[in-house]
Amino acid sequence: MRRPDLHLHTLASDGKYDVWQVARMVQRADVTLFSITDHDTMAALPEAADAAYERGLAFLPGVEISTEGDEEVHVLGYGVRYDDPALNAFFQKMRQNRIDRVRETGRKLAALGMELPIDEIIAGAGSSVGRPHLAREMVRRGYAKDTVEAFDRFMGRGKPAFAPRFTPGAPEAIALLKSRGVVPVLAHPGEIRWPLDCLLQKLDEWQEAGLMGLEVYHPANRGHYADWDAIARKRGLIVTGGSDFHGEGANHGQIGETIQEWPGALSDAWKLYRIAQKS
Ligand SMILES: [Zn+2]
Ligand SMILES: [Zn+2]
Repeated sequence: MRRPDLHLHTLASDGKYDVWQVARMVQRADVTLFSITDHDTMAALPEAADAAYERGLAFLPGVEISTEGDEEVHVLGYGVRYDDPALNAFFQKMRQNRIDRVRETGRKLAALGMELPIDEIIAGAGSSVGRPHLAREMVRRGYAKDTVEAFDRFMGRGKPAFAPRFTPGAPEAIALLKSRGVVPVLAHPGEIRWPLDCLLQKLDEWQEAGLMGLEVYHPANRGHYADWDAIARKRGLIVTGGSDFHGEGANHGQIGETIQEWPGALSDAWKLYRIAQKS
């Protein structure tokens, strides 16, 4: 039986481990089909395929795109090809936007008397540099007592050093993935803080744009699995699930942890795998 975990992060974005370490942990957790879904990058995918092959595991290459409307929405894409030119150009643009935002935030912080070594921070953080990196440096320098304060007082929306981020909207990301033969899936709907009727309306819009699946079995949906499962199946959306593993931290799941509560894991994951391979 294939035990799936379709949502894992590595060092290529904000995970704590490289793909070789993740593949070893995947095997130890008795997961037999896994997907690497780093934020806005496919950098780990070639090695992930090697690591999966080496351990005899089934692997589905993925990505998790951050999109922005009035709420940050994450869109998973399954069956990406790491050398896809259109997707690479898209992620390159997103990376540049991240860097531009960090620089803009840095300028605003400097104007408030908080100097930060922006170039060093960008060089050290790699492709997924963002405000958390600035927040940690602010704490180190005593500008904020912790990273929460760095956001609440300075960098959060409506605060003096807030700089808007230029990210694609969800429909744009969904349509792009679909056009590249990738299966677009809405990540962790339980993390989106809209009223349900509003979210369902958005789902109509996103399905119109090409959305094909809903990540039902994610730790953020715990306690509401049956509801999301019913919503997905009623709409003809593929049901997916994964731990969102980043490391041992408390904010995300541990590898394989949602499988026990996912009654259709085997058939749902197979359906996704088959469609993602074909398209
Ligand atoms: Zn996410
Ligand atoms: Zn994630």
